[in-house]
Amino acid sequence: MLGKLRIAIIGCGPGGLATALFLKRLGHEITIYEQYSEPLPVGSGLLIQPSGQSVLEMLGLLDSIKSLASPVHQLHGISVEQNRRALDMRYSNTGQGTSALGIHRASLFSTLLHAVEKAGVPIVVNSKLVTVEESGNLITPVFETGVSDASFDLLIDASGARSPVAAGKVKRLDYGAFWATVDMPEKHDLMPDALDQRYFRASQMAGIMPVGLNPATGNRGAAIFWSEKPENADRIIASGIDRFRKNYCDLWPEAEPFVSQLTSMEELNMAVYNHRTGRPSPSHRLIHVGDSWHCTSPQLGQGANMALIDAAALAMAFETSGSLLEVGEKYRKARMMHIRLYQILSIVFTPLYQSDSTFKPWIRDIVIHHFARLPIIRSLIAKTVSGTLALSSV
Ligand SMILES: Cc1cc2nc3c(=O)[nH]c(=O)nc-3n(C[C@H](O)[C@H](O)[C@H](O)COP(=O)(O)OP(=O)(O)OC[C@H]3O[C@@H](n4cnc5c(N)ncnc54)[C@H](O)[C@@H]3O)c2cc1C
Repeated sequence: MLGKLRIAIIGCGPGGLATALFLKRLGHEITIYEQYSEPLPVGSGLLIQPSGQSVLEMLGLLDSIKSLASPVHQLHGISVEQNRRALDMRYSNTGQGTSALGIHRASLFSTLLHAVEKAGVPIVVNSKLVTVEESGNLITPVFETGVSDASFDLLIDASGARSPVAAGKVKRLDYGAFWATVDMPEKHDLMPDALDQRYFRASQMAGIMPVGLNPATGNRGAAIFWSEKPENADRIIASGIDRFRKNYCDLWPEAEPFVSQLTSMEELNMAVYNHRTGRPSPSHRLIHVGDSWHCTSPQLGQGANMALIDAAALAMAFETSGSLLEVGEKYRKARMMHIRLYQILSIVFTPLYQSDSTFKPWIRDIVIHHFARLPIIRSLIAKTVSGTLALSSV
């Protein structure tokens, strides 16, 4: 087991915060650096899969998270052109009695942040990492404001998809999405406890999912999203909220009680999606966690879960290693297969739901409609989405 180390963690996302909690517990001296003037969650809802829930349970946070979230038992989607089911995934098909949790990003963030503060981990804000310097047995972060006064035994990069020190190119995906959070209407005709979507081929996609507490209003909330190309974002914003609501409801009339709550385009955020499978860092004093190592389109709903699993796997590598070199090797070995599998699945599946192709959505509709009913395929799809396929125990 390693002695007490001085560790810098870059980034206050789920990956950075969870890593800080695990490594603080192991007795290390942790400092988190965050680029913004205060740590803030960006975006709307996300799904915490059974894989991510098991990590939150290890951190003793699962009950708090459940109290802020909504159970999501099913992912469902209809191709409106054919009026055919193009997605039907029930968590019950895993045979493991689990479901996902729909949660607002701010609820996940505030739960992790509160635990980090309670554990006494300092967060240094206004610290945007630009590079690192290594000399002898130490690594030093270099921020926009200059070289840090403090040097560390290890620097953990959890700065997300746009990490300045990650190896491997980030590919911006053709489609992103507008996202917003609204209150769950008292009456609606959508499926309860489901992430529901409507598609026109793969060029239009609208989705709604329950997120438990809406932090802006204190009511039960729902995340709504609309697939769009980033280069169209300014034009859509300029066209105004009435046009946005009309387009959404033309595709999906039953979404009206949700979409009618939007009063301005300012309530929507355009999210850009990226893909990267990073290469391992050549230095054993620099380790990547979460999106800084591997980011994908959120179509499979895995990113935050993968970041949480990375954090748990890294802690396990710390517990069983005698040197930092060994930590890096064990951590990569524990995570590599799971990450590779989900990176490939994301490359294969994302264009079926977000692309200009007419052929790929046609394949999607035929395959899902006919083959996803087979029990063995149903179970495989459910385990894939749960995040547990090829997952070595963490
Ligand atoms: C619209 C959308 C929907 C999504 N839905 C889901 C879902 O349903 N389920 C799911 O599991 N995942 C989902 N994801 C993916 C998920 O949000 C990410 O995979 C996850 O947040 C990655 O966590 P992270 O900690 O690695 O990075 P991030 O959450 O990106 O956090 C990075 C942190 O580092 C800080 N930072 C960045 N650069 C620097 C720097 N240079 N110096 C200092 N600090 C820096 C940032 O400010 C931030 O605090 C979704 C993503 C998007 C965009």
